[in-house]
Amino acid sequence: MHERIEHYDVIILGAGAAGLFCAAVAGARGRRVLVLEKANKVGKKILMSGGGRCNFTNRVVQPEHFVSGNPHFCKSALSRYTQWDFIALVERYGIDYEERAHGQLFCQNSAQDILTMLLQECDKAGVTVSSRCGVRSIEAAGDSTGRFSVSFDQGPDTEKSNRSVVCQSLVVATGALSIPTLGGSGIGYDIAAQFSLPLTERRAGLVPLMFSDAMKSICERLSGVALEVEVHCNGQSFTENLLFTHRGVSGPVILQISNYWYPGNTVSINLLPSLDISQWLLQSKRDQGHSLLRSLLAQKLPKALVAELQTLWWSNDAERKLADYSDRRLTELAALLGSWILKPSGTEGYRTAEVTLGGVDTVGMSSRTMEAGGHDGLFFIGEVLDVSGHLGGYNFQWAWSSGFCAGQYV
Ligand SMILES: Cc1cc2nc3c(=O)[nH]c(=O)nc-3n(C[C@H](O)[C@H](O)[C@H](O)COP(=O)(O)OP(=O)(O)OC[C@H]3O[C@@H](n4cnc5c(N)ncnc54)[C@H](O)[C@@H]3O)c2cc1C
Repeated sequence: MHERIEHYDVIILGAGAAGLFCAAVAGARGRRVLVLEKANKVGKKILMSGGGRCNFTNRVVQPEHFVSGNPHFCKSALSRYTQWDFIALVERYGIDYEERAHGQLFCQNSAQDILTMLLQECDKAGVTVSSRCGVRSIEAAGDSTGRFSVSFDQGPDTEKSNRSVVCQSLVVATGALSIPTLGGSGIGYDIAAQFSLPLTERRAGLVPLMFSDAMKSICERLSGVALEVEVHCNGQSFTENLLFTHRGVSGPVILQISNYWYPGNTVSINLLPSLDISQWLLQSKRDQGHSLLRSLLAQKLPKALVAELQTLWWSNDAERKLADYSDRRLTELAALLGSWILKPSGTEGYRTAEVTLGGVDTVGMSSRTMEAGGHDGLFFIGEVLDVSGHLGGYNFQWAWSSGFCAGQYV
């Protein structure tokens, strides 16, 4: 085991989306940049993202698409490096992409195209990217040779060597806690705490919801059933697909609302968002009075779901013809179908969460440069910060935008 010290203008911790992009931007400015990555391969989350096709940005990017204790913080970065800037880069590389629902842009071939593009940008800019380099500690060097000293273990587990490097600017791009097997780590929070920077509470986001009550068995029985619904929670609502799983509910609409759900909250589900349900039931009573309610609903909802709803809400009237329901009862049932109240017991947690909500508090960070106030040369970018996006390419756009801003100043 031996120790040698090298000097760089910029050291970036983490070769994920934000770190690689920041490195390319800084390198293109002529800065001498080293990226240290703990894993054996760089950009693992990029490769896994969007089902292997990387939803790299969205055609419509607004501050409202982000969750943060400081909702204004993201505005400057998002306007200085926009989705159009990233799309132009993707097009310069000739990467084929497609637009899916809600303006989401995905690679047509593979997420590897985005990672290859980032690595080529780094290569062009003379950036050194070193994998199997797990950062152990940071010290404020504060001398003429550099502001920060970074110690890390290099190499495979069996033959690790200790190294130290010194730099003028240190960029923390180590991501967050979600999916530990893809590099999720809390070291960025430890570094923030070491420099007395405040953290906001962290929790899993873009994550399936689970149940411990009778709803758990309903979900088990409906596992695999999907339908478009509108979900409301804490003043937010989304209309997209819901998927029942053997643990609870998932699908894009649930991942979206999970960012706004706190333990103890209920969520309200409109099962027929494109209908005035009460008017439809009353009209159907007049037009098809001989039908059963379950047959009518099965025209618009999966049959297995209708069977479960019947057990919950009208089991005593299961064989009653629509014509024999009172208007009042149909209006009551319409209200239930339009607002099915569920009380999740929890989320699936960081094991499956696409993001971590909360993180390094943006109060005291420069929204223009991502530099920590009072700590010249210390920058935080990407998911480690208390900025998380909705589903739809927003988290990568935040990685590009925040990485660009820091890359301009490091
Ligand atoms: C399964 C999945 C699919 C997703 N799909 C999408 C999508 O399609 N669109 C979208 O916008 N967002 C998506 N996301 C979210 C998106 O991947 C993240 O928001 C984004 O990767 C965050 O970028 P980052 O650079 O901040 O962190 P990361 O990409 O997580 O990179 C952090 C890097 O730091 C490294 N690191 C950690 N600790 C250390 C250490 N001690 N020393 C050195 N290196 C370290 C990690 O190994 C990792 O490579 C998805 C997330 C997941 C989990």
